[in-house]
Amino acid sequence: MPEQPGRSRLVVLAGPTAVGKGTVAAAVREHHPEVWISVSATTRAPRPGEVDGVHYRFVSDEEFDRMVDSSQLLEWATVHRAARYGTPRGPVEEALAAGRPAMLEIDLQGARQVRESMPEALFVFLKPPSWDELVRRLVGRGTETEAERERRLATARDELAAEEEFDVTIVNREVHEAVEELVTLMGLGPES
Ligand code: 5GP
Repeated sequence: MPEQPGRSRLVVLAGPTAVGKGTVAAAVREHHPEVWISVSATTRAPRPGEVDGVHYRFVSDEEFDRMVDSSQLLEWATVHRAARYGTPRGPVEEALAAGRPAMLEIDLQGARQVRESMPEALFVFLKPPSWDELVRRLVGRGTETEAERERRLATARDELAAEEEFDVTIVNREVHEAVEELVTLMGLGPES
């Protein structure tokens, strides 16, 4: 599908839990401020250091329901059977209309929904160098309970199988390399 003039292309970054999507997105935010990155709404509680409106918009179940009912979300999903996450639609539309390179960092279910509504987006799968490395990163993060970790690993196994649905795969060996691959795909040069 041809891109609409004046509109930039949306990049959707997805991949299994703990592959480092959040770290890659944070590095893009830091080194490429010209990229607009969506701030998702979520019903989960903030982790230490997370700031409302920066990392997520932390909302109540009732507020999330309202956002869903009033079609404010481009996509949303219950992730790891634990909390709901969704992409506010308005800011994405505005960023694209302003010609800004825009990125969503979302889970696989969300990526599939965006594929339905915005098939012209570029779908990027971020993959760990190996399964063992993924497990190591998930354990190393130390933010989840044992039960939560097992649930996330079960999800990750299914998510890894979805690679072929994506336009491009980036292997997250080193964060800065993954970031440069990503911004190059977005038509932006490497950091000067
Ligand atoms: P975390 O709780 O570790 O920040 O994120 C858990 C998962 O939710 C990650 O896989 C992340 O990509 C996904 N996620 C974050 N924001 C969104 C969103 O707006 N929509 C969807 N579908 N998934 C999201």
